[in-house]
Amino acid sequence: MSATAKTTSTAHRFLEIFGIAGFCLLEMFLAWRAIAHSQSVLDALVIVGAVLVGFVAADFMSGLVHWAFDRYGSVDTPLFGPNFILPFREHHTDPKGITYHDFVETNGNNCIVTVPILAGAASIDPSWGAFAVFTSCFLGAMCLFVFGTNQFHKWAHQDDPPHWVQALQRWRLILDTPGHDIHHKAPFETYYCITTGWLNPLLAKIRFFELMETTIFRLTGVRGGVDDAKITGKN
Ligand SMILES: [Zn+2]
Ligand SMILES: [Zn+2]
Repeated sequence: MSATAKTTSTAHRFLEIFGIAGFCLLEMFLAWRAIAHSQSVLDALVIVGAVLVGFVAADFMSGLVHWAFDRYGSVDTPLFGPNFILPFREHHTDPKGITYHDFVETNGNNCIVTVPILAGAASIDPSWGAFAVFTSCFLGAMCLFVFGTNQFHKWAHQDDPPHWVQALQRWRLILDTPGHDIHHKAPFETYYCITTGWLNPLLAKIRFFELMETTIFRLTGVRGGVDDAKITGKN
């Protein structure tokens, strides 16, 4: 498949567009509600703290989802195979392909998966107390940075991204190219986090994903491993 070819069906494209619209509406509602609720320094601190924790959590979630789709299932897995697993596996054989994706293809999937979480955050009433405010803002911030993840990932593969993006990469506020290149060496078994990449050195040091795979194998007998023969044409 060429770098510019579509990797999604028309039906999935519509789902992505609805996902982006739902994501934007829910994020705007949560931001408006957080600002309206913030009436003291303590309120503001709770919200800022929730946003920072959400930023780190998004990096962790990006690694967890990336690892799961890299290591489990196949491109033939119902529902997830063609729309979620295929783009991750294909990205290993065609890393520059992502730089040709338009806004909807780059960000649609992440919006689809975050809309139910945002709906849950919107259902939390801030009048329940500081923990409710924290939880709602944490979920909203985490989803916002999860939304940014594929865009940050795309920029990490671009030869000449905008200057302000290069500055964010240099300051390590978003995924930087040298850090992400560590994942792009076969067998693609480390540095899965692709939002900021902050957690990659720690998770590699404690062998987090190897431990997860060992635990899953002991509990279910299912072994993790890349099954991208159809993409690479090995079969
Ligand atoms: Zn990967
Ligand atoms: Zn990549």
